[in-house]
Amino acid sequence: MKKFIKKMPKVELHMHVEGSMEAETLWELAHHNDYKIGYNNIDELKAAYKFNNLTEFIDMYMLGTRVIKSEQDLYDVCMTYFKKCVEQNIQHTEIHSDIRTYVDYGYPPEFVINALHSAFIDAKRLYGITGGFMPCFIRHLGNDVAQQDLELMLPFKDKILAIGLSAIEVGYPPSLFKDTFAKVRDAGIHVIAHAGEEAPADYIWSAIKDIKVERIDHGIRCLDDERLVEYLVETQLPLTVCPQSNVALKIFKDMSQHTLPIMLDKGLNVSIHSDDPAHFNAYLTENMLSIVENTAVTKAGIIQMAKNAINGSFANSERKKELLLNLNNYCNN
Ligand SMILES: [Zn+2]
Repeated sequence: MKKFIKKMPKVELHMHVEGSMEAETLWELAHHNDYKIGYNNIDELKAAYKFNNLTEFIDMYMLGTRVIKSEQDLYDVCMTYFKKCVEQNIQHTEIHSDIRTYVDYGYPPEFVINALHSAFIDAKRLYGITGGFMPCFIRHLGNDVAQQDLELMLPFKDKILAIGLSAIEVGYPPSLFKDTFAKVRDAGIHVIAHAGEEAPADYIWSAIKDIKVERIDHGIRCLDDERLVEYLVETQLPLTVCPQSNVALKIFKDMSQHTLPIMLDKGLNVSIHSDDPAHFNAYLTENMLSIVENTAVTKAGIIQMAKNAINGSFANSERKKELLLNLNNYCNN
């Protein structure tokens, strides 16, 4: 099973690029850019990666953004992740980040957009990996900032696959961003949102009704609302579930408590993703393995979710066919 999952062709739809920054990379970038991070050696930094709560996680995530000082730095972080994709046979990946953090540091909006765009061109050329960049609005900064971010990003819309909503969920429902996402849709950009991770099922309804999402990041709280589950099963709206992230952030006590098997049984369009693989110490393979080893999900469930990820992606129909063929060939051998 371990070998089967490791080599299985995969698609990733929920991964924040700064969350793929391993302690070694952070340490090297800090050294290279002469940025003081407050840790005396790599072992101290590695120890701090084992955080105990959301605040510690956010602090480490933000430290990662501070050691990035050029487009080249961010490009290098992406390419390190793409090398990991090759190891794990991730053939298509859609990546989150945000422009706001870097704009606030004084960089132009195209800083992140160009770094990701160049990295994707090279990932396709070198490894045959496809996908795209999905900047998120930082929801706890409010709709005015989101509106400004959109204005800054629109000139580069050809390099943007989708726009999402991320960061602190509770208190910031998607309805607050209704007018901004109407403009995102008008610009022909796909709409996604983190919803129903920590906040209740109402936030998922709001993502559906108020900003008309095409995919939900997390969505695990949908199980609290029967009518919502029915709607999600009927529409097959994709939900990108990140098991190790949920356990690390204590949404579930341990992996055996994860509700993914229930979601799968109900016929929801769920798939497995890594969220912040370096911080949660689990890339896609490790997330899948942890689910089969600790829950009732079987090999058939893993294959179903791999198919769901392909169908839930924003790849064009030709590429989806190719990805499905690769998966089918692998499973039938
Ligand atoms: Zn996320």
